[in-house]
Amino acid sequence: MALSGIQIYKLLPQTNCKDCGFPTCLAFAMKLAAKQVELAACPHVSEESAAKLSAASQPPVRPLTIKANGNELKVGAETVLFRHEKKFVNHPGLFLRVYADESPDAIKAKVQPADEFVVDYVGMDLTMDGFAVQANGNGGDFPAAVRAVREVSHRPLILIGGVEDLKAGLAELAEGERPLLCCATADNWQEMAALAKENNAVLAAEASTVDGMVDLTEKLKGAGIKDIVLSPTQRSLKGTLVANTISRRMALKKNFRPLGYPIISYPGDWGDPARELVAAGQAIAKYGSFVVMDHFAPETAYPLLVLRENIYTDPQKPIQVTPGIYEINDPSPEDPLLVTTNFSITYFSVANEVEGSGNSAWMLVTDAEGMSVLTAWAAGKFDAERIAKDAIRFGAPDKVSNKRIVLPGHTAVLSGELEEELPDWKVMVGPREAVDIPSYMKNVLN
Ligand code: SF4
Repeated sequence: MALSGIQIYKLLPQTNCKDCGFPTCLAFAMKLAAKQVELAACPHVSEESAAKLSAASQPPVRPLTIKANGNELKVGAETVLFRHEKKFVNHPGLFLRVYADESPDAIKAKVQPADEFVVDYVGMDLTMDGFAVQANGNGGDFPAAVRAVREVSHRPLILIGGVEDLKAGLAELAEGERPLLCCATADNWQEMAALAKENNAVLAAEASTVDGMVDLTEKLKGAGIKDIVLSPTQRSLKGTLVANTISRRMALKKNFRPLGYPIISYPGDWGDPARELVAAGQAIAKYGSFVVMDHFAPETAYPLLVLRENIYTDPQKPIQVTPGIYEINDPSPEDPLLVTTNFSITYFSVANEVEGSGNSAWMLVTDAEGMSVLTAWAAGKFDAERIAKDAIRFGAPDKVSNKRIVLPGHTAVLSGELEEELPDWKVMVGPREAVDIPSYMKNVLN
C-alpha cells in the first residue's frame, strides 16, 4: 500500500539539509508521496528506510508480462478496487482454449478465425490476446496441439496440464517466448516451480481456499518464483466473484502480498456458450487478468472486448484521436472542410456519417484536449482562434481550394469570430447532430 507523505517523512533523516533541492524533508516527502520525485534524490536515506520505501512503492498487485513472437500481454499493477477511484491499469487478456485430444486440423480451424479477428472500435484495433492449450486426460498429443496453435498464431500462450505435459509443450515454443503455466498445486508445486524457473515462465497457483492459496504462493515465492498468477478453483459465478474479490481486497486494502497477484478465470468451464459469456463478463468486470474461453464467435467476442475497453479506459482521460486534417472518401480541393474536436466518439460519429453518405470532405480535427464539441466550447478549448490556428498548421489552405469551412451547429456563435480569423474563407454552420450531416451535405454543400 502506498505510504502517505507523513509516513514517508518518518523514514527520512529529518535534517532538512536541502541536498535534494527541497527546503525540508517534509516537502521532499510530500513530493515523493505524489510520485513527483525519485527517492534517489535524497543521498542520506538509510538502507533500511530505502528498502521500506521501495517495497511500499511497488503496486499491490504484481505486474507481469507473458509474450511470444513480439506480441505481449501485460497484466496486474492495479492499485484500486473500483475504476472510478482512479483507473484500472492493464486490461485482462482474452484467451481461446483448445484441447490436446482435438486433432491438429480441428485446432487450427478453431484458432485461425480467432487469431485473425480484429474489430475497429473508436480508432482502436480490438483483438483476442492469445490461446490456451489444455491436456485433458483423454489422451491426445499435447506437443502436437501446441504446434498446431503455433502454425496459425503467434500470440502468447497459456499451457495447462501436468508437469510432463508442460515440459513437452514448452519444448515446442520458440526461444524468448514467455507463457503462463497452469497450475502449481499443493502436490506438485516444487516440480512446477523448477519448470517455470528453467523456462522463465509465469506460473499459476491453484487452490480451493484462501489459506491454501496463501500457503502456495508463499512456497512458490520461497522457491524463487516472482511472477505468480492466482487460479482459484471456484468455478461458479458466486464462487469466482467471492474468490476474486477477497484476493483483490486483501491485496489492495491490507497490502497482503501473498494474494497480490493477477488472477486467471475460466469461463470456458461452463460449457454452454451463453453462460460462458456471462462468466467472461463477470471476470472482466471483477479482477480477472486472464480470461480463458472455449468458444469463439465474432458476435460474442466483440461485446466482451468493448466491455473491457470501457472498464479499462482511464475515466479522467477521454479517448482521443490525433488532431489533424483527415480525408473522408478521397476528397478533392473543391470539397468542404468540416470542423470537429479530437474526442474519439465525436470524431467517429461525424466521420461515419460523412463516409456513409457517400460524400467526400476534409475533416479538421482540432486539439480540444479530447473533449466533445459542446464541452470543449464551454471549457474554452474550442474557439475561433484555436480552430483557425489548427486549420493553418495542418495545411488547410493547401488542401482546400474552395475554402469552405463548416462549424458544428452547436457552435454557430463562433462563426463571426472565425470569419475574422480566416478572412479568405467562407464560414458555414453545419447541423447540430451528426445524423443530419448527410442531408446537409446533399442539400447545402453540393
Ligand atoms: S536530502 Fe534528504 S535529508 Fe536532506 S532535506 Fe532532502 S530529504 Fe531531507
